[in-house]
Amino acid sequence: MAKTGQISVQTENIFPIIKKFLYSDQEIFLRELVSNAVDACQKLKTLASKGEATGELGDLRIEILLDEAAKTITIRDNGIGMTSEEVEKYLNQVAFSSASEFLEKYKNETNIIGHFGLGFYSAFMVADNVEVLTKSYKEGATAVRWTCDGNPSYTLEDIDKDTRGTDIILHINEEGKEYLDKYKLESLLTKYCKFLPVTIQMGTRTETTYEGEGDDRKEIKTEVPNIINDKDPLWKKNPLEITEEEYKNFYRDLYPMSSDPLFWIHLNIDYPFNLTGILYFPKISNDLALQKNKIQLYSNQVYVTDEVKDIVPEFLTLLHGVIDSPDIPLNVSRSYLQADANVKKITGYITRKVAEKLQELYNKDLEGYQAKWSDIGVFVKYGIISDEKFAEKAMKFALFQNVDKEFFAIEAYDEKIKALQTDKNNKLVHIYSTNPTEQYAYIQAAKNRSYDVLLMDHPIDNHFIQHLEYKLPNTSFVRVDADTADQLIHKDEKVESVLNEQEKESIKGLFENIVKATPGATAVLKDLSPTDDPISIVRPEFMRRMKEMQALQGMSFGDFPDAINVNINTNHPLICQKILLETDDTKKNSIASYLVQLAKLQQNMLKGEELNQFVHTSISQLN
Ligand code: ADP
Repeated sequence: MAKTGQISVQTENIFPIIKKFLYSDQEIFLRELVSNAVDACQKLKTLASKGEATGELGDLRIEILLDEAAKTITIRDNGIGMTSEEVEKYLNQVAFSSASEFLEKYKNETNIIGHFGLGFYSAFMVADNVEVLTKSYKEGATAVRWTCDGNPSYTLEDIDKDTRGTDIILHINEEGKEYLDKYKLESLLTKYCKFLPVTIQMGTRTETTYEGEGDDRKEIKTEVPNIINDKDPLWKKNPLEITEEEYKNFYRDLYPMSSDPLFWIHLNIDYPFNLTGILYFPKISNDLALQKNKIQLYSNQVYVTDEVKDIVPEFLTLLHGVIDSPDIPLNVSRSYLQADANVKKITGYITRKVAEKLQELYNKDLEGYQAKWSDIGVFVKYGIISDEKFAEKAMKFALFQNVDKEFFAIEAYDEKIKALQTDKNNKLVHIYSTNPTEQYAYIQAAKNRSYDVLLMDHPIDNHFIQHLEYKLPNTSFVRVDADTADQLIHKDEKVESVLNEQEKESIKGLFENIVKATPGATAVLKDLSPTDDPISIVRPEFMRRMKEMQALQGMSFGDFPDAINVNINTNHPLICQKILLETDDTKKNSIASYLVQLAKLQQNMLKGEELNQFVHTSISQLN
């Protein structure tokens, strides 16, 4: 006889709230129901292993059946099933009260990740009517049918059902109709259930094999079950038993369009929290934003989210792969998550593992490590800048690369440049180039002085440099086209000027007059070596960096010109002899202009009319 009842003494109807509240994340109903089916199968396995369930277990599996005409989706399992009493208890009381409790708790939360805990009643987000046909594993159990059409009353009746387990039949409503599409449904299953531990099947697919050779070759098509999931995902296996190829294949499976990863870390810990997973170091593209949000978070093999920025440190969001932990609280708000003790420990653990892996590669295979530096370097630098704990470890395996493509550990490099590149304040001056082609002349000039020039050509290097200067008080960085000579010359190679004050004034006046045509330029007299260029253009480090920083913060300078210094080498023969001694003012002026233009040419600063005029002057001088 059919029984009817009220789900709860509460008259409040939670169904409209469920529908409205979770509208944006409707699709999780599938994850919830399939997870329940997985639980039902696993519970049966556990009981059988303890001898509490007897009889044939069979092939435990979950089937998803779609009937577009009838507008139903059925989630079928051959798990533990429920008796009539259990349906009353679990669906009418437990499930209902946990759903109402969930809604009560989070109705003011706008920012929920994952919605675990809503469970069975999430079905009502997409169904007007839900039927449950279930038969318990218990001997002699009678099968029952429970139905509920989205208000607090339900019916419960005995039925005939041969097979053990539960069918959840969703009569899909208007809001849920998109799920009646086969491809949509299958893609959702793939998203949430790809690695669940019980076989999940949705219909069949055609498999094509070939038999015979040459003209006799026959195509054979067979219908095989369409299995959605891989029950034993790689991260659950023993790392010692996994081959390199298997790691790569798993990566290709997760990110079909990507090139092979550089290396990976297998995470596996069960105390003080439980976490498994594989993190891959991808080849870095220049657009760092594209790399992010590729790590997938699972809880007991159920997909939760790919928004992991509160669980892994920001710089590690550049990694790819999978993290699986039942210990990450999933149905809570962001701010809570950040304060959660488990999450903090997990963050610390992952950071430490990544640092250890890098240190290991560095120790074991320095050449291989160096070869990968253009990719790894970004992580390491990003990590050093953003994570104090990581930085402590990473300073030991961070590398400097110079413009001749040689690598140095930071400490070793400092040792190398100490003798020549210490300034009058005892600071180590690191000279760097952001563009060896454009800054070629300066690099040569620095090399002539036996200075070493580092290569810092990635966008992150700007921040990295600033960070190192801040952290290491005796370290400074100057770009090779800044006044490198100025920075270092005071130490021991001070060159005396051959000009007296009056001569200097005359040279200065001459060049000031020429330079004033170039916006932002200042003429500066320098007592350099006679073998240094007569005129060189430099960009004061401080001004350049200020400008770059403000540009980064979106401040515009309009047409405000770069600040540049035009250095006049008072000791160069062309300056202290030829120009100084020239009596014809026009000639004197044109030699000086020509020299300034040559310096500008080397800086790619000679443009338009000025360039044209320069070329013509040069040609006419050949006549
Ligand atoms: P939770 O899964 O978090 O306990 P649910 O609302 O999803 O909450 O389900 C409530 C209960 O209903 C489950 O704990 C389980 O006992 C029972 N149940 C749900 N689905 C099934 C199923 N497919 N087979 C057997 N029991 C089920």
